[in-house]
Amino acid sequence: TVVTRFAPSPTGYLHVGGARTALYSWLYAKSQGGEFVLRIEDTDLERSTDDAKQAILDGMEWLGLNHDKGPYYQTERFERYYEVIDELLEKGLAYKCFMSVAELDAIREEQEKKGEKPRYPGTWRDRTDHPEGQPFVVRFKTPLKGDVIINDHVRGEIRISNTELDDLIIKRTDGAPTYNFCVVVDDWDMGITHVVRGEDHINNTPRQINILNALGAPLPEYAHVSMILGDDGKKLSKRHGAVSVMQYRDDGYLPQAVLNYLVRLGWSHGDQEIFSIEEMIEHFSLDSISKSASAFNTEKLNWLNEHYIKTLPASEVAPYAKWHFDQQGIDCSNGPSLESVIDIQADRVTTLKELASISTYFYADFEEFDEKAAKKHLRLVAKEPLEAVKEALLAVDEWSPENIQSAINATAEKLEVGMGKIGMPLRVAATGSGNSPSLDVTLNLMKKEQIAQRIDKALV
Ligand code: GLU
Repeated sequence: TVVTRFAPSPTGYLHVGGARTALYSWLYAKSQGGEFVLRIEDTDLERSTDDAKQAILDGMEWLGLNHDKGPYYQTERFERYYEVIDELLEKGLAYKCFMSVAELDAIREEQEKKGEKPRYPGTWRDRTDHPEGQPFVVRFKTPLKGDVIINDHVRGEIRISNTELDDLIIKRTDGAPTYNFCVVVDDWDMGITHVVRGEDHINNTPRQINILNALGAPLPEYAHVSMILGDDGKKLSKRHGAVSVMQYRDDGYLPQAVLNYLVRLGWSHGDQEIFSIEEMIEHFSLDSISKSASAFNTEKLNWLNEHYIKTLPASEVAPYAKWHFDQQGIDCSNGPSLESVIDIQADRVTTLKELASISTYFYADFEEFDEKAAKKHLRLVAKEPLEAVKEALLAVDEWSPENIQSAINATAEKLEVGMGKIGMPLRVAATGSGNSPSLDVTLNLMKKEQIAQRIDKALV
């Protein structure tokens, strides 16, 4: 079976690039009926933090990218790494190197002078005269000849000559196993069949393949995904707005929209833009990932968010919307159901943050009326029509959009005024502002008494 993994280093939040890699990896596993592994690569003790680990887990959970195995932590696997290092040493596939830093520096300097690439020359590869009690590193014996060939699903054939690679350190002087080595042991132990990761790792791949071969481990297939750029063509960074996935939650995006956005950022299926998760799983393939860098486009993300807020069942949007009401200190327990509010507000907003803020009046009395709207619609004209419509609304028996509309119409007729003289003042009085969905459905979600009270307040 197919086993993929996402292997973030917990040195910061889950960013957009990482989330996209995770999504592709997750989708591929799902599309093949396989498994998705989450592995936290936390061996860099100085840069890894618990907050970052949590932020990654939170981000994955919010996106719904659930893992079938893990999370594994590399820091919990040191015993295993040592075991494999010892095995390689015993088999003569790795060796202890006693070269001092000063010696190594001298060699590098010499090489640089000659215009050569700095490269460890294999000095200790075959030596047996090991000094007692001296510090050493363990190096992997890179094959002396031949090429490493990668048939990358995104980039096609990549060929690297082993003469370009030197003998990689797999254990440092202080005993720590190195990054490339841990990845290899993990991918092997976890039965990873497909490695999907950023193209910034492409230089590691031949080294990792050589070690896998030495271990007699099966080779995974690779897909190195290109970078994400900002809309100005530069590497995506904070300057371009949010780069942390959780920032998108905070800004009011639905995970469905973010996932749809991310999947299209470097992958396509015909000219289809909207994909449900099921459709992504159905159509996803590693071979249709684009090789060129993708540019971030906030407008498109906004468009998708609007789409999902409008089209998902309100019951699916509600839990995410609730989070924003809570954030804004709006208590939704007293008032209309969130679903009913979403139903009438969904096509008026780009984000759930906006949805919460423009829907406050359903759940809390406002302190003041919108200044401009009040000036225009309340102060000059509204006293008599508002009094009259208040009475008419209070007299409605069965509270429904139709009956509310009839009461408003009847008032206009009775007073022989246009709807403009009643509708807008009533809207401003009831909601505090001149913007709301149509009055019948808006007032229908409010209580008569509440509306009457607000009209009284408007008439003062
Ligand atoms: N830990 C690496 C990173 O965060 C990913 C390594 C891999 O996928 O092989 O960039």
